[in-house]
Amino acid sequence: MKSKILVIHTGGTISMMEDKDTGSVVPGRENPLSVQTSMVSNIADVHVIEAFHLPSPHITLEHMNEIKRLIESEYAKTSFDGVVITHGTDTLEETAYFLDLTVSLPISIVVTGAMRSSNEIGADGLYNLISSVRVAAEPQSANKGVLVVLNDEIHSAKNVTKTHTSNVSTFQSPQYGPIGIVTKRGILYHHQPTSSESYKVCDTTKRVTLIKAYAGMDSSLLIALKDLQFDGVIIEALGQGNLPPESVPGVCELLEHQIPVVLVSRCFNGIAQDVYGYAGGGKQLKEKGVIFSNGLNGQKARIKLMVALSQTHDFQELERIFKN
Ligand code: ASP
Repeated sequence: MKSKILVIHTGGTISMMEDKDTGSVVPGRENPLSVQTSMVSNIADVHVIEAFHLPSPHITLEHMNEIKRLIESEYAKTSFDGVVITHGTDTLEETAYFLDLTVSLPISIVVTGAMRSSNEIGADGLYNLISSVRVAAEPQSANKGVLVVLNDEIHSAKNVTKTHTSNVSTFQSPQYGPIGIVTKRGILYHHQPTSSESYKVCDTTKRVTLIKAYAGMDSSLLIALKDLQFDGVIIEALGQGNLPPESVPGVCELLEHQIPVVLVSRCFNGIAQDVYGYAGGGKQLKEKGVIFSNGLNGQKARIKLMVALSQTHDFQELERIFKN
């Protein structure tokens, strides 16, 4: 019997076309994937929903939550075996990680996209959609957390990131690699995710911002963030997890106003930790109450803090959540 797969289209290049006169890639009136969906019906029993037709820079936390609710409400109606979500690649990793943190169903959940629009030479959208339906239909793909499938690779939502502006092999999991591959004949896993987390989201209105540290950074931007009453701040810190000393008073102001500050590293490999004991070093920052993020990149730490803040403002509890 064929697997039942729900396909949710949300937009992105995978659903766009190139205007041959101007060369610009734009969303058309009709989603080209809707026409092509018949090509996956020999792999699985596919039900398609066009949730949105948005470029992914237009996707907000509220859209991510709508996708989550859609998956849950459709699953309550028909217990399908897996879901494939098509999405623009710019913020794909954020939606995938949000779903990873918040959807807890015993099915496979795959997010995919494309780097070339549907009528460009070498378009990768239909191919990635077919691969994703194959992955979602594979029983081993269930209970592995949210998976990101493009270019014959299967990545975990937690580790994957977009690494290139245009190359079709843009999605990589720095330091960890893919957890499986898509071959002509089958789906092969070679890694097993070791942990999973699940949180309820009651509120998608939390304002969490993300800034990058740089040599000579002072406190002015951090103080402005406190004045703007953000609910949380993620800082892509230097190296192992350090900041220039002139920025420390700004960090302290945020913490004194009960605004959590989470540190990730601006290095794309490695984990930010409280190692250095000099002014602005990780040890001093941790003592002051800064939370270290355990290897997430900045954009995913931001999603996690927004999800976490919808449950708790307790700094110790937030610290515990970021240890996972
Ligand atoms: N800018 C596009 C988007 O994210 C890129 C893509 O889909 O590949 O919507």
